[in-house]
Amino acid sequence: MLTSNQLEYLKNKETIKKRATIWNKLNKERRRSVIRKSRHGITELEYECQLAYQDNVCAGCLNPPKPGTRLHIDHNHNCCPGTEKACGKCFRGLLRGSCNRLLGLAKDSPQILENLRDYLIYGPFGKKL
Ligand SMILES: [Zn+2]
Ligand SMILES: [Zn+2]
Repeated sequence: MLTSNQLEYLKNKETIKKRATIWNKLNKERRRSVIRKSRHGITELEYECQLAYQDNVCAGCLNPPKPGTRLHIDHNHNCCPGTEKACGKCFRGLLRGSCNRLLGLAKDSPQILENLRDYLIYGPFGKKL
């Protein structure tokens, strides 16, 4: 048998939980923005402005983001090494996730990407396929 104090406590707990859920819902965008600012160095507004500037397409392949996804915030991978967070000064643009990963795999090297482009067009050592 629960005492009235315990009942009161349980009731409050539910209320607090409910309040927290509502608060979280209301602040989802805000929290997202705070996370974005601290992790990627740009605010939600800066993100929106950049997105509009890029005509809502990936700055790399010029394709729109896949349905239900957002473009990723790309930063110079040579800046702020060893951290999960970007400093904000090294922000470059918005990319599809796959393009962002591709740049990382190519070590952000224009030369590697150019060599690979030539390889795709001309085959190994410039020989036509
Ligand atoms: Zn892309
Ligand atoms: Zn940085």
